[in-house]
Amino acid sequence: MPSVPPSASSGPPLSGGPAASLRRWINVLNLSTPAGLMLARLTGCRTLPGPQKTTLVEGYPLSLPRAAAFTVGNVVFYRSSSARRIHAPDSPLLRHEIRHSSQYALLGPFFLPAYFAASALSRAFAGDPASANPFERLAGLRDGGYHPGPGRQRRRTRAPRPDRPRRLIRSR
Ligand SMILES: [Zn+2]
Repeated sequence: MPSVPPSASSGPPLSGGPAASLRRWINVLNLSTPAGLMLARLTGCRTLPGPQKTTLVEGYPLSLPRAAAFTVGNVVFYRSSSARRIHAPDSPLLRHEIRHSSQYALLGPFFLPAYFAASALSRAFAGDPASANPFERLAGLRDGGYHPGPGRQRRRTRAPRPDRPRRLIRSR
């Protein structure tokens, strides 16, 4: 059960305007939203109407993907432990997931293969699946709970000694 019940007063406005309607219909037609709804049904999760024509899926139970939340079409899945973050007013995490929903609308069936390839490249070059992944960067690394800056999450080199001053790395 989620720790915070959803309410009409929490989160972004429910309607979302014409752009949200267009995104919803594109993601229905490219079958990403139906796939998300099927996953929600198969995992026995409760669905709720979300802001900007999304469907929220509470209490995702499987261990993969290892994320607080993820999106399939217009369907935003999140774990019970992330319910408070998703239902927070103007939730950054939900904004991040809705941007992924727009990416599905732009790329349709090519989104997931492109996303996984970008994650693998990011892991190879930056040491983690997000910081050099353009899909995550465009969705907002901070909003998604990532630390911006390539290679700053899991460096293969020695961790800096706490007594040594760190060099500042400018973000672009
Ligand atoms: Zn993301």
